[in-house]
Amino acid sequence: MVDKAQSHGIDLVLAAHILIEVPDPDRAAAKEKFLHFLEQKSLRITQQRRAIVDTVFGTDQHFTAEQLLEWARERDSSVSRATVYRTLPLLTESGLVHEMDFGKDYKIYDPNYAEHPNHNHIICKDCDKIVEFESDRLEALENEITSKLGFEVESQQLTINASCEEMKRAGACKNKED
Ligand SMILES: [Zn+2]
Ligand SMILES: [Zn+2]
Repeated sequence: MVDKAQSHGIDLVLAAHILIEVPDPDRAAAKEKFLHFLEQKSLRITQQRRAIVDTVFGTDQHFTAEQLLEWARERDSSVSRATVYRTLPLLTESGLVHEMDFGKDYKIYDPNYAEHPNHNHIICKDCDKIVEFESDRLEALENEITSKLGFEVESQQLTINASCEEMKRAGACKNKED
């Protein structure tokens, strides 16, 4: 059996702070990499595209395509849905943003992928609230299981579908848009 105090201690403390710990220079570097990626593909960096890129690399929150559209329009009201939907595949192709399928009828995009490719997610099944965490213990266990089964780990992310505080308390979440 896992020692409870231990499992609640070190691992989770690390975890809850991951979002705040992504340093700004890293995000700026990721943005530069993406602009370079566009240049290499001879794609123009239009004003709309610039607003989308600034939005993606200016947040560490996970987002849906529609959320990205809304946030990018706060920077530049001319951003079109079509440009957002054309830019998202480029973002994932660059490897700097990760497309995640949580079994919903829309995808969720993770802007923290470049800095922390192996982090894990807990997602509320009702409001999509996401908490990220990293755990050395979990990673060690995944490596152990994988090699025992004759494989070698390429990447690892665990998703835990869960109920957030509000869902547990009230049976539904008010802030489904957030
Ligand atoms: Zn994430
Ligand atoms: Zn919730």
